[in-house]
Amino acid sequence: MCEKAVNVEAIFNENVFTMGKMKERLPRKVYAEVKNVIDHGGELSPATADVVAKAMKDWAVELGATHFTHWFQPLTGITAEKHDSFVTNPDAEGRMLMEFSGKELIKGEPDASSFPSGGLRATFEARGYTAWDCTSPAFVKKDATGAILCIPTAFCSYKGEALDKKTPLLRSMEALCEQALRIVRLFGNTEATKVTASVGPEQEYFLVDRDLYLQRKDLIYAGRTLFGAPAPKGQEMDDHYFGVIKERVGSYMKDLNEELWKLGISAKTQHNEVAPAQHELAPIFNTANIAVDHNQLVMETMKKVATRHGLACLLHEKPFAGVNGSGKHDNWSICTDNGVNMLDPGDTPNQNIQFLLVLACIIKAVDTHADLLRQSASNVGNDHRLGANEAPPAIISMFLGEQLEDVVKQLIETGEAASCKEGERLYTGVSTLPDLQKDATDRNRTSPFAFTGNKFEFRMVGSSDSIASPNTTLNAIVAEAFCEAADLLEKAEDFDVAVHDLIKEYLTEHQRIIFNGNGYAEEWVAEAERRGLPNIRSMVDSVKSLTTEKAVKLYEKFHIFTKAELESRAEVLYETYAKAINIEALTMVDMAGKQLIPSVIAYTTELASSIGAVRDACPEADVSAQTELLVETSSLLAESKKALNALKAITAEAAAMEEGEGQARAYHDRVMPAMSALRAPLDKLEMIVDKELWPIPSYGDLTFEV
Ligand code: ADP
Ligand code: MG
Repeated sequence: MCEKAVNVEAIFNENVFTMGKMKERLPRKVYAEVKNVIDHGGELSPATADVVAKAMKDWAVELGATHFTHWFQPLTGITAEKHDSFVTNPDAEGRMLMEFSGKELIKGEPDASSFPSGGLRATFEARGYTAWDCTSPAFVKKDATGAILCIPTAFCSYKGEALDKKTPLLRSMEALCEQALRIVRLFGNTEATKVTASVGPEQEYFLVDRDLYLQRKDLIYAGRTLFGAPAPKGQEMDDHYFGVIKERVGSYMKDLNEELWKLGISAKTQHNEVAPAQHELAPIFNTANIAVDHNQLVMETMKKVATRHGLACLLHEKPFAGVNGSGKHDNWSICTDNGVNMLDPGDTPNQNIQFLLVLACIIKAVDTHADLLRQSASNVGNDHRLGANEAPPAIISMFLGEQLEDVVKQLIETGEAASCKEGERLYTGVSTLPDLQKDATDRNRTSPFAFTGNKFEFRMVGSSDSIASPNTTLNAIVAEAFCEAADLLEKAEDFDVAVHDLIKEYLTEHQRIIFNGNGYAEEWVAEAERRGLPNIRSMVDSVKSLTTEKAVKLYEKFHIFTKAELESRAEVLYETYAKAINIEALTMVDMAGKQLIPSVIAYTTELASSIGAVRDACPEADVSAQTELLVETSSLLAESKKALNALKAITAEAAAMEEGEGQARAYHDRVMPAMSALRAPLDKLEMIVDKELWPIPSYGDLTFEV
């Protein structure tokens, strides 16, 4: 049954203070000033800010808003908000007028002492400021709390150090803009005034029944299952991928889309993913900082809407062992404000010199800073995916596809690319079906960084992660390569010769990063090692790439991070890792000690009494089945208890260590294996113990009963 259809055009952007609404509601001069600041930077005058704030408040109040919040993205990876109502002191007659000033719009001062800052700000220096990012529109969030006006902001310390993910992203966008403009100018584009990174993130997620979810402490505390025997059926039939969407899930998706459209998020694609209970949503791409904000809202809305449908949305990278985990493909390109996508090769890339230079610069950037890109996609959950046989390997390489690889090869070998493979026709072999024009490039699902027509698709990012860091990194490393190229080419006497030589040089020097083969194959690991490509296996191993001399030089040159900011981020990452694994270990201790082991004991008692009772009733009866089960169960029980004791001790030792790299390593090298040692016998026991006695829902219950 389909409920009343919504008018999508009417609800789209309903809860967003768009440029259109500003134009409508602001005096013309004020609007012009705001637009100028949005397009070209600068500051609003206090008088203008007051006018904007009043118009914004009036609009929000019409939607029922009672509060506003500076909405920001601290280093926790999620968003933060503190609500203030528009309520003011009543006058002598007791009348109250709702107010919102320009000052409140532009600057906030949340008590920032409890956000991770990696030593940038001692707790006694708690001041942190939020500053309006006027390039991302304000919106009203409506839920049980009421309607809240949300103002996207950046979050900085008293001394101006970035305490969030937004500030460096905005800085990186400015750096990329400046350097990319130099490149297009070299090719005679005098019209472009701005170049922006565009981003389209594809979001994967799982849905499970909320009542079942609430019965599993691991899902509640850790976001993933820490125990669980495989269900009899997994994803081996390939029948979930693009399969018919179940009614309950469909009704969820319908609601989700509507909520997102109201927030101006152009939810576009939805489908079932590979693993049972796994799905995906992709919006249309947007300017990088808006895409980052939107992706945070997508994740938040996914969770909220799930609750309304009696479901729980799992954004963890690996909620279930043995079936695919979730990622977030970060599609990225660079576009000028006069409509040129710098990553569009056109029909004849071999003749498109600007494209070839841009491509050569990106190849150089990715090769030079593979470690930074890898780091930008690492988080605690993603350690379960990267390098395992379903996700991109932990080794960064680039897939260019047949056409571009051929062009690159010609350029390296002869210095010229005389020809260009064309997309052929695809013959369907059925007279009533049209023959299709094939893309010049097939897809390679195993590559972590793939060229897909007019954009790169960075496939390593984890599903729960903010996409701010990956895009900050991409913008930064490409800005550096553009800058180095422009430094040379702007001085060149003969531009045509110089650009030709530079492209050849970059491609020759950095061709090792190009790999069009199967990234999942064992041989690739060995081949990558021969090529000298880094294979950074875990999040903990990746952190140090943030503070190498190379990284500090890059980020300081373009004013994206100071050395102190990088060091603080490294520290936060180590702490985050240790804390997350500590929570997982404690959750396992809790579940094993209070739920699983007691149920196994109950089962052994049942078996023992059965053996006794059957023998009493009938001495000649065969009790070998019960006896065999009792022996097997008791031995696994003993193994579980031993592993539980070990996990407790090892976790306590790690917890007592000083925070930092050493502690994170202890969690990775010692606590994680102790967790696996506890899980193994209990997963076996789940397959033996009476289902009635097993205290938590199984993988089958969770992934098939949606
Ligand atoms: P694919 O099937 O190759 O993944 P889609 O067309 O489904 O491609 O796009 C996936 C995501 O990439 C979408 O969010 C889409 O909006 C985004 N995208 C498309 N073109 C660009 C571009 N030029 N820059 C950034 N993202 C893009
Ligand atoms: Mg894709």
